[in-house]
Amino acid sequence: MKQYDYIIAGSGLFAGVFAYAARQHGKTCLVLEKRDHIGGNIYCEDVEGIHVHKYGAHIFHTSNKKVWQFVNSLAEFNRYTNSPVANFKGEMYNMPFNMNTFSRMWGVSTPAQAKAVIDEQRKAVSGEPKNLEEQAISLVGTDIYEKLIKGYTEKQWGKDCKDLPSFIIKRLPVRYTYDNNYFNDLYQGIPIGGYNVLIDKLFEGCDIRTGVDYLADRETWRSMGEKVVYTGMLDAYFDCCYGELEYRSLRFETELLDEENHQGVAVVNYTDRETPYTRVIEHKHFEFGTQPKTVITREYPADWTTGMEPYYPVNDAKNQELFEKYRALATKEENVIFGGRLAEYKYYDMDKVIESVMNAAAKEFGDA
Ligand SMILES: Cc1cc2nc3c(=O)[nH]c(=O)nc-3n(C[C@H](O)[C@H](O)[C@H](O)COP(=O)(O)OP(=O)(O)OC[C@H]3O[C@@H](n4cnc5c(N)ncnc54)[C@H](O)[C@@H]3O)c2cc1C
Repeated sequence: MKQYDYIIAGSGLFAGVFAYAARQHGKTCLVLEKRDHIGGNIYCEDVEGIHVHKYGAHIFHTSNKKVWQFVNSLAEFNRYTNSPVANFKGEMYNMPFNMNTFSRMWGVSTPAQAKAVIDEQRKAVSGEPKNLEEQAISLVGTDIYEKLIKGYTEKQWGKDCKDLPSFIIKRLPVRYTYDNNYFNDLYQGIPIGGYNVLIDKLFEGCDIRTGVDYLADRETWRSMGEKVVYTGMLDAYFDCCYGELEYRSLRFETELLDEENHQGVAVVNYTDRETPYTRVIEHKHFEFGTQPKTVITREYPADWTTGMEPYYPVNDAKNQELFEKYRALATKEENVIFGGRLAEYKYYDMDKVIESVMNAAAKEFGDA
């Protein structure tokens, strides 16, 4: 009989939802987190009463009623609706591309007028698009591409759009309605009191140790539990025996400003190439904050090197092939459950992470 039923490496959303399900089934859990706090990338830091999304802006959105009811059973969600604004050299455009955007760009007022402009501009590309630039123009025309896509995409990828493959942009949602709601999902919002409210509920009743890297002493930890739930990087688990999986990273520059309202909205995208950052987040607007000060974060895309935060997997053919090799090793590991964005080398929205834990928990505990 071991000390714990589960040793959980990592304390993000995957770990938290799994720990919650385990506790509901009377199981014991030891959670090990290498950072000095729990919560993974949804962790918020309190600055002057403002919940600062420390690892990037997080907006919860889903069309899955079961997931929505689950998170609402743990925390109350506010009515925040994501409506980012794009700043192109001081010209402000509503996102996603919709009638407000087209009206500001061309002075049009009806969907038919907007469609006519886009259709005319799309003709600039004939035949099969050869790169991302041609693909984007063939979908939304030259003006939207030049002002709202080109610079932003080039900063994100660190490459010219002409040198990026067309498949990166499969679709570009264009809405011929005056609707600035970024997401199409049925439900969205931010937990009132920030994401830590949710995190604390998820890990209630677990033993937690922060500042501990599971891999640094894995034999000891493993011997303490019947099973391991591992939510860290998959290649690291196998000591990168086949080589490293690649990521894109981000650098955040956060500032406390002595003003009440800096940009009037939570998210502004900077879509010109010259501004070095892609987005500025003003955190208080996620929760309709009325504090006398404000906190903003500038988000800079960055190349990833070992030791940096791995934010976005690079799911190209080379990395996917490497991942499959690690996945084959993982299936041979006994009594280890691998899950979450790092162990599955996958970009996962929060609701999809919860769905995947619900499936894993159904297998593990034999219920739905
Ligand atoms: C910039 C950005 C913005 C995003 N915005 C949104 C959004 O608006 N809406 C949305 O739905 N989703 C968003 N996401 C996705 C969201 O962050 C993920 O769905 C979610 O955080 C995944 O949870 P996870 O548990 O898989 O991973 P993580 O949150 O990364 O948790 C993994 C944890 O494991 C720890 N760990 C790793 N290795 C070890 C080890 N060896 N020992 C101990 N601990 C370890 C890490 O420190 C980390 O705390 C965003 C992601 C990014 C990168």
